[in-house]
Amino acid sequence: MAPNGFKQLQLNFSGMGCWLTLAIGFLLMTTVGIGWLLKSLLVLIVLLLLIPVVLVVGVQFWLRRNLVEGSCPACDQPLTGFKTIPLSCPSCGAALQAMDGTFVRVAAEGTIDVDAINVDVSNLDDGPADNVTIVDVDVLPPADT
Ligand SMILES: [Zn+2]
Repeated sequence: MAPNGFKQLQLNFSGMGCWLTLAIGFLLMTTVGIGWLLKSLLVLIVLLLLIPVVLVVGVQFWLRRNLVEGSCPACDQPLTGFKTIPLSCPSCGAALQAMDGTFVRVAAEGTIDVDAINVDVSNLDDGPADNVTIVDVDVLPPADT
């Protein structure tokens, strides 16, 4: 017997894939019916059309609930950010956090933000010339560190 006798007994299955697919398709159509196949294709097409619409509507709903538009309290730069994510102003670098639909500055505990306005009232008629200093003091919320 020749040493390569086993090679002569091998069968060539390379062209069987296409025929096997056709046979399985024919078997499916005869057993479950073509109506069921068409209905499943219709359901698949409807799902493929509905999934992007549902995703877009869901993302818009989520953005409407979680996105905050406002301005930086330090430099009035218009900002957009998420409710839960602290951010820093790209213009002045102040640490900000969204609170009640607006942005507030966050700082270390005990930090006091002071806006000082010096008003000269020497031109008023009813009193002596005086300098009035108005000091607006805001206590900043503590930073989450
Ligand atoms: Zn700023």
